[in-house]
Amino acid sequence: MRLYILLVHAVLVAQSIAALFPPGNETTHSAAVQACQQLDHTLGPSLVQSSGAEYEAAATNAWNLLNAEFAPTCIVFPQISQHVQTAMKAIYDTGSHYAVQAGSHSAMKGWNTVQDGVLIMFSQMKNASYDPVTDSITLEPGIHWQEAVTAVEPFGVAPVGGRVGDVGTGLLLGGGLSWLSPSQGYAADTFKELDVVLVTGEMVTATVTNEYSDLFRALKGGGNRFGIVTRYKVSAVHTGTNDDKSFFGGTITYNSSSAEALLKATARYVHETNDPKAVSLVTFTNAMADGQIFPVYMALLFYNGPELPTAIFGDFLSIPAVSSQLGPLSYLEVAGTLGLENDRGYVQHFGASALVGDEALFLDAFNHWSNFSATFVDSFNQTTLAFTPIPDSQIHAGRDRGGNIISAPRGQFAAVQLLQQLRIGLQDLPRVLQNGIDLLFEQIPPSPGLPLYLNECDAGQKVFQSYSDFELLKMIYAKYDPTGFNVAHTQGPIGL
Ligand SMILES: Cc1cc2nc3c(=O)[nH]c(=O)nc-3n(C[C@H](O)[C@H](O)[C@H](O)COP(=O)(O)OP(=O)(O)OC[C@H]3O[C@@H](n4cnc5c(N)ncnc54)[C@H](O)[C@@H]3O)c2cc1C
Repeated sequence: MRLYILLVHAVLVAQSIAALFPPGNETTHSAAVQACQQLDHTLGPSLVQSSGAEYEAAATNAWNLLNAEFAPTCIVFPQISQHVQTAMKAIYDTGSHYAVQAGSHSAMKGWNTVQDGVLIMFSQMKNASYDPVTDSITLEPGIHWQEAVTAVEPFGVAPVGGRVGDVGTGLLLGGGLSWLSPSQGYAADTFKELDVVLVTGEMVTATVTNEYSDLFRALKGGGNRFGIVTRYKVSAVHTGTNDDKSFFGGTITYNSSSAEALLKATARYVHETNDPKAVSLVTFTNAMADGQIFPVYMALLFYNGPELPTAIFGDFLSIPAVSSQLGPLSYLEVAGTLGLENDRGYVQHFGASALVGDEALFLDAFNHWSNFSATFVDSFNQTTLAFTPIPDSQIHAGRDRGGNIISAPRGQFAAVQLLQQLRIGLQDLPRVLQNGIDLLFEQIPPSPGLPLYLNECDAGQKVFQSYSDFELLKMIYAKYDPTGFNVAHTQGPIGL
């Protein structure tokens, strides 16, 4: 017992010291070198690389250019869960900083890569399979959504995943907004079983009913610091094969003179539509070049049925459109509507809000965003304001499956995303731009009681504090990472 107390004390002291030294100093560097040497020895050079073509490709793979400029001390390419266990144990024992990368689409600086630390890169764990007996889909963490949907389409099923094909499974840990969410809940609500490598390297399988049910809940929206998920078993949704055109919908593009009508239609849809078969996403994008703004406004509308019912989508359909691509679709086609959007190579910045209210609130948000775009027209390639309606049906579907840690209330609200893509040449957010973004967040605050959405947030936003189960989340974190190792040695949402 005395030895145990001494050990815990020693770990706590080591962690407090580590926390004092952010990545980039001598202590973190030598811990990382030690971890990498150990891993090179135990896992071998094909799975652990510190230089060479595969290392370079992985180190520069991140979607956000900011994250493609880090140089991890080594990159581990696990092929099975046990490799992750070995890596995590070495990281923990040496006190090294580390990061995990799945689909690479985190917008937040340092959340999916690390300087002076170990990067665990899931590019060699990409399987997806369907089990008809349990009606479940098993996903390895390195798969991207288009690959996952394509792999199981022949069985007539799909996982609840992202709306852009190149995004990866990290989406699940933030919650996950999908074309199937109104009927199924957040993507994480479909979890059945998770294999999780804990901070010490121990592996557990968490389910909604077993002894790790608290961890299971925390991983439905709690992000990247509770453990490393090496296997997701999720419910299969019977969406049909590519021959089954059981959906109808597509994209309508509008010009800027329709902004007000489109915002009013969006506000009404958010407030009134609670049909689990209906889903929409409305995006306002300002592309910029030579000091000029080129607006592109779009509504993506889908219905799990033979047409878009006018009682639900009539407002959108009656606004004069620049172009309209609507028709019968398979789910594979729905999932492919936005394409891969493999737009790497830019500095990107996200921000989140959430709104419940009348048309005036949506118009107000748009006006602030338009002013912001115009003020910083020379700094951006493009800015986007996007609304994802969160109907009560989505909240109910999640609760029916045991609930998630986001614990969003019913009440028909919209997740609001702000996306800024910096013009080429700008390598980081200049102070003046950060101030402008901070002001924009103040001007479009979340409506009282609504959670911010982790997957669409800025690193500085207090996402966890906006969850009504914030205290529970902190308790679960303290249980599974009692020394606070992950907060001290990885980047992620603030507040744990
Ligand atoms: C173009 C684009 C489209 C998007 N569309 C949607 C959308 O439709 N719906 C939606 O909800 N969100 C969407 N997002 C947001 C997206 O869900 C988040 O950026 C998400 O974090 C990306 O996951 P990833 O695996 O691609 O990225 P990564 O950067 O690889 O991972 C994201 C985070 O999760 C951590 N992580 C990943 N895998 C694991 C694991 N197995 N164990 C522990 N931690 C892990 C990483 O360390 C990182 O912090 C989109 C983002 C972009 C850029």
